[in-house]
Amino acid sequence: MRQKKIHYIYNDAMECMDFDERKKLQGERLRATVELEYNNVPAYRKRMDEAGVKPEDINGIEDIVKLPFTQKTDLRDNFPYGLFAADLKDIVRIQGSSGTTGKPIVSGYTENDIKVWTEMVARALTAAGGTKDDIIQVAYGYGLFTGGLGAHQGATEIGATVIPMSSGNTQRQIIMMKELGATMLCCTPSYATYLAETIHEMGIKPEELKLKSGCFGAEPWTEEMRQHLEDLLDIDALDIYGLTEIGGPGVAFECMEKHGMHINEDHVLAEIIDPVTEEPLPDDTPGELVFTTLTKTGAPMIRYRTHDICTLHHGTCACGRTTVKMSRITGRTDDMLVVRGVNVFPSQIEAVLMGVKEASAHYMLVVDRVNSQDKLTVQVELKDDVDINDADKLEKLVAYIKTQIKQTLLISAKVELLPPKSIARSEGKAKRITDNRNTGF
Ligand code: ADP
Ligand code: ZN
Repeated sequence: MRQKKIHYIYNDAMECMDFDERKKLQGERLRATVELEYNNVPAYRKRMDEAGVKPEDINGIEDIVKLPFTQKTDLRDNFPYGLFAADLKDIVRIQGSSGTTGKPIVSGYTENDIKVWTEMVARALTAAGGTKDDIIQVAYGYGLFTGGLGAHQGATEIGATVIPMSSGNTQRQIIMMKELGATMLCCTPSYATYLAETIHEMGIKPEELKLKSGCFGAEPWTEEMRQHLEDLLDIDALDIYGLTEIGGPGVAFECMEKHGMHINEDHVLAEIIDPVTEEPLPDDTPGELVFTTLTKTGAPMIRYRTHDICTLHHGTCACGRTTVKMSRITGRTDDMLVVRGVNVFPSQIEAVLMGVKEASAHYMLVVDRVNSQDKLTVQVELKDDVDINDADKLEKLVAYIKTQIKQTLLISAKVELLPPKSIARSEGKAKRITDNRNTGF
């Protein structure tokens, strides 16, 4: 059941800090991080030397623009330990990216880094109403992927009761949720959708569950998807963001205002840049998110290019937090489709489809190259109650969806309707794109 809108804050001193005071703290931490990198990571020292910048040139956060960027390829080139600033004996954990794009990469965490990460998640869960009275079901996968352990550590930190279900075993997951009276759920939004739909199919009503909120992240999702999940489960569905390289889930999280994610700025410094010119962009202008860690000691990252597209917004939030907020991620530059010169993100298609009452929450974008032209096909799975034999109605539906896509995205796409339950369900990060253009032909 949804909660009253109350703003709980885990660490007032840090989350509601005065702007100037925070800037000063960030500046000091930035300098310390740069020193650590310069002294302990030869690959980064080389890069700084090439750019002609020394740690003593960094005297405040405005000096960050002097520093070279770190790319995903740097992590791969220095795999596995080349970018670690700490001795392996001080690394207490290795986590890895789930490898959504390209080869997997790993990051190392010292005891300090685990503590920082744990607090970041504790802040997120607290913002979602989590306390020691809660029973938190963690349905993110456990393992190298940061989702499961990250949520687990944060839930333990706030003193809640943790159910470490991991992902999968959907029916059993739901029975446990009901029998144990889970009050909060942590998983990807696509898995939350799958769980919510299965709950309904099992004939369980939301009021038979004790769920009040969910922290959903690790993949892009839309405002429309939030509405869908909140209605199906009668909960507050909140966004949580993170990435292995920077510190796992909890780097940023939504408060009950549900209007952007607060970035844990005492631990990370965020910038938005134009991905092509690499120039910093002002507030509310979409661009690539770049992070610098401020307190990590295992594998600190300087100006790490995330490939994630969003906007930043500074100011005091109605919840009382003064930390900068990032918008939802609209997509990653590496899952952006360029269809006949127009940039298309799966989330834009999702927003259109969620407004079509016959469409389920499951879809797939298929891109082919025909006569050297990109062709986008949007596969739309129909809801259970749609009569798949009513050809006339289906034809009109195809035309309607095509028009909606054309009007919103300014591209023509082929629309294919698929029978209910025909698109594979996701227990982790959903796969929304099938790109047939790179098959070697
Ligand atoms: P990968 O997905 O690259 O294998 P990770 O498991 O570390 O690696 O996931 C980090 C990435 O997941 C982020 O860079 C971002 O693209 C995506 N992500 C994480 N949280 C969110 C979120 N709340 N909204 C959108 N995308 C997210
Ligand atoms: Zn807020």
